[in-house]
Amino acid sequence: MRKINTRSFRLATRSTYREINRTIVLNLIREHQPISRAELARRMKVGRASLTLIVRELLESSEVIESGTAVAARGRRPMLLRIRTSGRLATAVDIRPTHTSVVLADFGGTVLKREVFPTPSRPDDLVRELGVRINRLLAAETSPGTAATCHGIGVVVPGMVDRRGGRVLYAPRLGWRDVDLRDALAAHVGIPVIVESAPIACALAHLWSLAGDSRTVNNFAYVSVSDGVGVAMVIGGEVLRGEAHTAGEFGHVSLDPYGPLCACGKRGCWEAFACNAATSMRYISEVAGAKNSRVDGPRRGPLPPIEEIVRRAKRGERAAEAALAATGREIGRGLAAVVSAINPKRIYLGGEVTAAWDLIEGPMREALVAGTITEAARATPVLADRALTEYRLLGAIALVAAPSYAAPRVG
Ligand SMILES: [Zn+2]
Repeated sequence: MRKINTRSFRLATRSTYREINRTIVLNLIREHQPISRAELARRMKVGRASLTLIVRELLESSEVIESGTAVAARGRRPMLLRIRTSGRLATAVDIRPTHTSVVLADFGGTVLKREVFPTPSRPDDLVRELGVRINRLLAAETSPGTAATCHGIGVVVPGMVDRRGGRVLYAPRLGWRDVDLRDALAAHVGIPVIVESAPIACALAHLWSLAGDSRTVNNFAYVSVSDGVGVAMVIGGEVLRGEAHTAGEFGHVSLDPYGPLCACGKRGCWEAFACNAATSMRYISEVAGAKNSRVDGPRRGPLPPIEEIVRRAKRGERAAEAALAATGREIGRGLAAVVSAINPKRIYLGGEVTAAWDLIEGPMREALVAGTITEAARATPVLADRALTEYRLLGAIALVAAPSYAAPRVG
């Protein structure tokens, strides 16, 4: 049951009925393609005639194409329908503290072009550089005669985002507060820009993914453990955003008021215990043979990157194994809070540390069990999302592609 919001509502109009049915048809084709009209009608439990108009509209708008024929026992072989992905392009931008990736891909996720460059420290400089690079990419791929169209630019950032206003509210790792990203970038490129927090974009990529059994999971959390720790929560097929766009900020929930200093200025946040830099600091302490492997204190020299620690652990280096096992425990402590808060069907965990899954999984599960109070909560599946870099970009593509499949909001 959803209560009607009498201050913000959308009235049903004469076209609402058709709009809803059209989206249902589009989603059925997407999930079961290639599919015949007869099979569609059977799945919708309607007559072929009721489908004819909707399918014709989808074909005319080029969202759907006819391709191939089905095997038929007798008579004319029916044409099969599928979603058109080629020629429908999205630009995906993944902004990280060290580097920014720009990818041009089609709606099916096939990458056509990719560029990576160091992230400028000032947002203005980043927007300018993005504008130049995106315009160059689009000029090459969507020039007259290629029939390809870029439908939008999806941008993911490590921080809290006001999705409607297109503003980055706070990104501790970038040092940004209240940065207008959407309108500033749109002014350079002249096509719609959608800005989203990285974990939410990763969650959307899973929500709209057709791989595996993702399509049947509508209640889950996506936890990203990387430069920082971010959480996105999907409940009933919808991302939970909160009153002021900060829902899911488990990364900055303090697990210990006397714990290590966090990028946000507080002490003992989950992020300060579980992020990549924390793992690197723990590794250095382990190597130094320190009894107390606190991750606080001044840094001396550059930290070894997480990928290197994973490599050393795989070679059997004890200090690296211990540092990663400890990270597994710290991740599990926070996951217990996520499970207690939303009781998800499953948790997807993304990040470079998942490459050492065999080392982190056990300690993570132990901490999750210790921190939860029912058998069902303790058994919540945690699955590694091993393609974090790609997922952030797939998430950015989903920002552009998914709205055409989303249920129309009425009431
Ligand atoms: Zn914090």
